[in-house]
Amino acid sequence: MNDNTPPINSPVQPVKLTLDDTIQFRCHKGISCFNECCHAIDIQLTPYDILRLKQRLGLTSTEFLAQYTLPFEMDNQGMPGVKLRPLDNTATCPFVTQDGCSVYEDRPTACRYYAMGLLSMRLQDTTTDQDAYFLVREDHCLGHLEPRRMTIREYRHEQGVEVYDEMNRDWRLIILKKRSTGPSVGQPSTRSYQLFFLGSYNLDEFRNFVNSTGFSDVYDIDAEKLESLKTDDVALMKFAFKLLRQVLFGEITIPVRADALQKRAIRKQQQLQTDPEKTETDYRGPVIV
Ligand code: SF4
Ligand code: SF4
Repeated sequence: MNDNTPPINSPVQPVKLTLDDTIQFRCHKGISCFNECCHAIDIQLTPYDILRLKQRLGLTSTEFLAQYTLPFEMDNQGMPGVKLRPLDNTATCPFVTQDGCSVYEDRPTACRYYAMGLLSMRLQDTTTDQDAYFLVREDHCLGHLEPRRMTIREYRHEQGVEVYDEMNRDWRLIILKKRSTGPSVGQPSTRSYQLFFLGSYNLDEFRNFVNSTGFSDVYDIDAEKLESLKTDDVALMKFAFKLLRQVLFGEITIPVRADALQKRAIRKQQQLQTDPEKTETDYRGPVIV
């Protein structure tokens, strides 16, 4: 396991569990540590987490990101991630109330899993991913002492994790592939990472991008599909994952117009003529692979 082994003193128990392993755990409102975990957060958000929370709160993804998240780098190559932003000068979740979680039905994946962790990995020299589960034992969490046993499969079902994992699956595979191929696919350009951020976290901006003339000059999407992307956040998110695979790994699943390169060159030329101050890197057109 080497790289995946939790550091000494980590609350993550170094025992890899499967769906059919049994855990002893129960969290409920009557427990004396109720809400304590929500006052010590370090929660990485997934694309589907953001989709659900921004819908719940009636915000655009741009507004949600600005109000509720902090950026961070997921690896040492600058892969962008976002975390839930605690209340100022605390580690307290902005959604916790005395009665519990105010966004409970739409709480993030990490909150649903707790006190377990999910580790997706791709072993060296293999092409398939594997999921493993770990118990997270923190001193403040008394749920481990509650006399209830269930399998991880049952726990995931109870917590409504399955739909979240399913929705985020293609995104996790992108991250796994990027990690497992490492430098062999090269360092993604700044624009590729910008697109990764948009497609992963800022769906409303990504939608504007997909609706732009520049995008339809390049990608050959049928009208019905384009129409559905205008209103359906889940369809848009899944489309974003396909585009990211295309841009990051060259896996062509979205048709590119034959004359795309020529049109792009003309537009770039026009852009530079109308604004000579703009450098080539300032030009924000679609990424072509
Ligand atoms: S989103 Fe809800 S469950 Fe998760 S840390 Fe915040 S209050 Fe707790
Ligand atoms: S039992 Fe654990 S998960 Fe539940 S409220 Fe207490 S600290 Fe949080």
